This record gives sequence, structure tokens and C-alpha cells, in this order.
Amino acid sequence: MKPIASEIAYIVRGSARKNLKVLTAYCSFLACMVFGYAFLFQHLMQTLEGREFSFIAGVYWVITVMTTLGFGDITFHSDPGYIFAGIVTISGVVFLLILLPFGIISMFLAPWIENRLRYHPLLEVPPGTGNHVVICGLDPVTRALVRKLQARDIPFFLVISQYEDVQRLEEVEGIRAVYGDPSDLAVLMKLGVERARNVIVNLGDKENINIVLTVRSLCSTPIVTMVDEPEHAELLRLAGANQVVPLKKILGRYLATRATTKGAFAHVLESLGKLLIAELPVHGTPFAGKKLRDALIREQTGLAVVGVWERGKIVIPRGETYLSEQSVIVVMGARNNLEKLEKLTGELPEQDMVMIIGHGRVGCSAASFLEHKSVPFILIDKVVNSGCTEHVAVIGDATSREILKGAAIDQAQGLIATTNDDSANILFTLASRHLNPHIRIAARANREENVAQLYTAGADFVVSTTSVGSNILMNILEKRDSIFLSEGMNIFRHPVPETMDCRTLQSCRIREKTGGTVIGLERGRQEEPIIIPSPETILTSDMTMILIGSPEQEARCRELLH
Ligand code: AMP
Ligand code: ZN
Repeated sequence: MKPIASEIAYIVRGSARKNLKVLTAYCSFLACMVFGYAFLFQHLMQTLEGREFSFIAGVYWVITVMTTLGFGDITFHSDPGYIFAGIVTISGVVFLLILLPFGIISMFLAPWIENRLRYHPLLEVPPGTGNHVVICGLDPVTRALVRKLQARDIPFFLVISQYEDVQRLEEVEGIRAVYGDPSDLAVLMKLGVERARNVIVNLGDKENINIVLTVRSLCSTPIVTMVDEPEHAELLRLAGANQVVPLKKILGRYLATRATTKGAFAHVLESLGKLLIAELPVHGTPFAGKKLRDALIREQTGLAVVGVWERGKIVIPRGETYLSEQSVIVVMGARNNLEKLEKLTGELPEQDMVMIIGHGRVGCSAASFLEHKSVPFILIDKVVNSGCTEHVAVIGDATSREILKGAAIDQAQGLIATTNDDSANILFTLASRHLNPHIRIAARANREENVAQLYTAGADFVVSTTSVGSNILMNILEKRDSIFLSEGMNIFRHPVPETMDCRTLQSCRIREKTGGTVIGLERGRQEEPIIIPSPETILTSDMTMILIGSPEQEARCRELLH
């Protein structure tokens, strides 16, 4: 059954919404007419027949006459009175009994019936569909994933249980979705899950478990599922999910890495085998105010700088790249290289202090990460997180300046703005930047369109739920082990192809042909990887290249190296 809510929603949007305004204006006109006649009735009764009636009695008389009910309990006994009653009756017939129903039918009922007859939702995938991606659940993350799948020409089918959403998606966004309940076995069969390349499940944890179990009872198609509460991950795996993505936990870790200022190991973002990838703010290090060439990072630590962030934009560094106080360098190297960096910068994580606003799942994960790295932090939330027994948060609405000041924002070196409300995150960013100009701010954007605003408000780093989520899903779908640095920059691996065996890196002209840059070479698990290989390095087919580049460059590299 289609929910009544979806029918009401139909009336309050689109052309029906415009018609609703016309209907409201017409009803106001009718009300004015009733009140006007009631007033005249009172006046005529008194002047023609000398009888007193209240205004309410007048309204009652007009309604009974206009609707032609005419109870006959109040009547005129004079010719002008009869004429007036006649006029009221005729206007009632015309305006109330003819025009009003006609208007309602032509403006609402007919378009609604036409719409229902015209629109037939898709109930199953076309015969012969195979190797497609089935997506259960529509939210900003799956929407962004859909755009990526469309750009790569990968067939997909969304399954949505809300009739209204299915129709709107098709009519407004041109995406055809299958209408049905994804936990229903019959619906899953109609989606051809057994022939699909992947099933992505992205609803609430409980519904996810239900869907995973149902899909598993049908086939062995790989299932990727999102999880809200990390402790449900094991249950989802037991139910049969192949990959479980704890998005909020990952987001918390990303934010924490970017808000800390001290302690090189607190900045490790990912690892590729023995290679660690870390993002280190330049502020407070001896590298600030120097060109990359003069900062001598490689010479002193052995770490390779593979990218430089400047307010949300990442560039491939060159010798002349300037490292400002606001820059963040992406470095790659082994554990001992990072140890050297830590000695060089001389600042321990314990000397840092990070304020986390929002102790939900993301904030809690950021706190756990910082705790693990020995970075002190303060948590603020307007409510107590009942799911966390490890951390104690200051309770209060962080939009109030007093709470921020009371929580010593002026002493914090880092801030993580991670509430589920983007306008609040923008406000904290602005206020904190104002109270403490040198604070390092990492903010969460729940909606993609707020990323730019958060940067404008003064954030050093914005992590968007949508792009992180959709990139993780895309990586899994394309079976890539690439690391997502930001929208627009990935680190990825590819084995050296036979055609490049025994050739120098320079002669392969990978950068010229694809735009991607080789930043490392691995040979087996035991040997130390070569970081930033020189152009004369000889490639052998037992090596794996580590490259950095945009998603388009990554696609070109994969094509060239195939
Ligand atoms: P989650 O999406 O699970 O990371 O949760 C977001 C958290 O942000 C919730 O615990 C909310 O209580 C919290 N939050 C939302 N608005 C505010 C605010 N104005 N001040 C403090 N915390 C907030
Ligand atoms: Zn917690």
C-alpha cells in the first residue's frame, strides 16, 4: 500500500502546490461572501421586518440558504427579503455547489488520477540484467555513489520502499529505481541479486542485518554494508556481509588526524604495507616559511613529501613549493622516518590539546583515536552520549560563546567541529577562529554544499561525509586499494606491467602520458620500499608502483599499466 503521506506530499509539491494557493484564495473569497451576506441579512431583517438577529444567526441562515438546505426556521416575509434570499441561493449554487467542486476536480483530482495512471514504477530489473550493482537505501552517500557509477558507466539499480521517492527520483533526477522493500525475498529476486556484481546495503543497522541475511539466503554475491554502531560490525559479518564500512568511525579518525598539531605518529592517515602516509601541519615546525627544497625534509628524515594541502586544495609538490603556516604536508615513509621527524619537530603529542564539539559517533571515534595517540582532548555535546562509557563530555550547547570560552577554546591548539548540524559547525568554526586565530580547525560537512562555506568560515580542513563514504564504496566496488586523500586526489598501487620490465622509470613516461606520479616502488613484503624513486630507477615486473593522482589520472594510469 502506498502511504497516505506520499499522496499528501504529492499535493503539497509541484503544480498541485500552486493550485492549493488558488483554492485557498477562492475559499477566502467564499468566506468573505458568507460574512457579507450575513451582515446584509442582519441589516435587512431589522430595516424591513423589525426583527433582531445575531451575526452568528446570520451566518447560519446564509449557509443553509447557499447550500440549498433551507431549514425554513428563519425566513423573510417581504418582497425585498425574498429577492435577497433568491440572490443568496443562486450565488450559493454557482459559487459553492458548481464552481468549488469543479475546481477541486480539475485542479487536484484529475491531475492526481492522471499522474497515477501515467506513472508505473519499475518493479523488477529488465530481463538479462547482470553484473550490476544493487543499492539498498538512498541517502547523500549513495546519491554521490550513483553519480560516480553513472560517470563510469557501471550499471546499477537502487531499490526504494517509498513510492514517492521512486517517482521523484525518476522525474526530477532521471534515475530509475526499483520500487519495493529490500528486505523482501521476492523483491531481491526481482532485482537479480544473484547475477549482480555487488549488493550495497545502506539503511539502519537493524534493517541492514535483515537485508544481508535475506541476500545471503539467496546467493553468494559480495555484500558491502555501512554500519552506524561499530559494535554491530561483527553481527553484520556473521549475517554474511563481505565488507562492513564503519563510516562514522573512519570520519572521526580522519578529523582527529587533521586537528592535532603535535606528534608525528598522531598524523598517520593510512598505511600501504610498510609505508605510512601522514598529514602534518607545517605550523610550529621548522619548515614553515621555507620552500620545500630548502626545508630539507627528505634529507633530514628520509620522508618523501607527496602532496601539499593549502586550505582544501592539494598540489603535487615541486622544489619551489612554498610551505606556509597554513600548509599541511602529506608525507610518506617508514616508521623510523616518522620517528626522525618527531625528534626534529621536538613536540610530543601530550603537549597538544584538542577540543571536540559533538560527542556523537564521529566525535567519540575522534576522541578514541586521540586517546590512543596520547593527545589530550576536551569533548562538548549538548546531550550525554548513552552509547559511550569511556569519555566524559562537557554538557552544553556549543553555539553559546560562554560554553566555548568556559571550555578554554583560547588554550586549545586544535578543534574538531563534528556535530550533525552544518550550520552549528560553521558557527563554531567562525567563533573559534575569532577567539583563537592560530587554532587548527578540522570540520565535518554533513552536506557537500557546505564544504566551501566551512572553508570560508576559517576551517583548515573539511571532511565531507558524502565524499568519504562514496569514495570508500567506489574503491570497494572497483577492487582498488587506493587511499582517498581528498576529493580530487588518491594514492593507489599498481604492479609494474611486463611491457615496462627492465626499463628506466623516465623512459616509461608515466607522468607525461597519464598525469599520475610514481611516489614509491615496492618489491615483495620483506624489502624496504623505494620512496620517490629517481628517474633512472630500473623497473622490474616483480615491483609494485605506488602512485598519486586525481581519479581521472588514476583511471588513465590503470589503463596504461594494464
Ligand atoms: P553523530 O552524527 O552520531 O556524530 O552525532 C552528532 C552529535 O552532535 C550529537 O551527539 C549531537 O548531540 C551533537 N550536537 C548537535 N548540535 C550540537 C550543538 N549545538 N552543541 C553541541 N553538540 C551538538
Ligand atoms: Zn565517547
